[in-house]
Amino acid sequence: MTQLYPANIDLESDEINLEDVCASEWAAYKQALGTVIDLDPDRLSMGGAGHSVSLLEDAVVVLFCASWHAGVRAAQAASAGSGFAVPVTSCPGCYGHGRLWNGRSVRRPNADETTCPACCDHGAVGVAGIG
Ligand SMILES: [Zn+2]
Repeated sequence: MTQLYPANIDLESDEINLEDVCASEWAAYKQALGTVIDLDPDRLSMGGAGHSVSLLEDAVVVLFCASWHAGVRAAQAASAGSGFAVPVTSCPGCYGHGRLWNGRSVRRPNADETTCPACCDHGAVGVAGIG
């Protein structure tokens, strides 16, 4: 089913339904999440706020929305013939984990887990709002 948005729509407004804009990818995520929950439904079914799977779901939605808005800003900058700044970047030491395993960014069982010295457990470096 085709969804048409008017040319003058505010791309950062709530009028855009991101689940429709990226419907196939959203469906793939939801179905993959369901497959993971099915591994152990008693422990992994979403148990409300604070449950680890609910936190994962919330994080994915925030990532989804942030990605959209970053794309809108990048397109606006390109249209204006200017660049754009990214004041906070993923930590190059741990790639967002905030942790290292045997000094590396690949999580593995029984490895010596330490706080990433480059980002001090944040997973990102930089200062939001400065760019
Ligand atoms: Zn780091």
